[in-house]
Amino acid sequence: MKNQTQKIVIAIDGFSSCGKSTFAKAIAARLGYIFIDTGAMYRAVTLYALEQGAILDGKVDEAAVVALLPEVNISFRFNAERGASDVYVNGELAEGKIRSIEVSNCVSSVSSIREVREKLVAMQQQMGRERGVVMDGRDIGTVVFPDAELKIFMTAEPKVRAERRYAELTAKGDKVTMEEILENVISRDKADMERAISPLRQAEDAVVLDNSYMTVEEQMAWFMERYEKIVNA
Ligand code: C5P
Repeated sequence: MKNQTQKIVIAIDGFSSCGKSTFAKAIAARLGYIFIDTGAMYRAVTLYALEQGAILDGKVDEAAVVALLPEVNISFRFNAERGASDVYVNGELAEGKIRSIEVSNCVSSVSSIREVREKLVAMQQQMGRERGVVMDGRDIGTVVFPDAELKIFMTAEPKVRAERRYAELTAKGDKVTMEEILENVISRDKADMERAISPLRQAEDAVVLDNSYMTVEEQMAWFMERYEKIVNA
């Protein structure tokens, strides 16, 4: 039996750009939990690999990425303005750079490398060991925390997702087209679902949330109903 003071793990998995991070961040703020964006960690490794020349013309040199792993130090620091943690790579702020289309185009290849996943999954399990975390990603409910008390599988229509990512990137001043964003969203989902290790899939005990036409408030009401049931069971 749980109660409001007993902290749980909330695992949020799902497709690219369906608002997992926004949702997870809002839940963490509401419950006083820690929010961990695991996609940011895979993006951070990808950024470092790009900077170190382990990815050339979009081609990922797996052996070179694996060789870089011992020297990639990923950390998070809370940014009060954003209400979330920024990711740092070897002490350098990387939050803006990891969201670029260049990183987005290579991240699924980097995240399919076994050694990359082993390193990042171990870090994620360590970060959530005290529970009281909301973690978003692709394999949280299936691999990182298969014992999470609440698992949510998020989805939204591809066009809606591409529009959201487009708005986010153009607001930052990135020069991107809707077509390339839509292509990236679709190809990343395909690669994430088809990879051999920890593919994106819905855990058997996950509840599905299609938020194509839901506001954040509506999603929160949906969530709180399920959360209350679990902690008051
Ligand atoms: O969540 P986000 O879109 O930022 O994730 C970027 C990429 O990182 C995904 O497309 C996927 O390839 C990878 N990823 C993963 N496992 C996770 C989180 C992200 O493979 N837990």
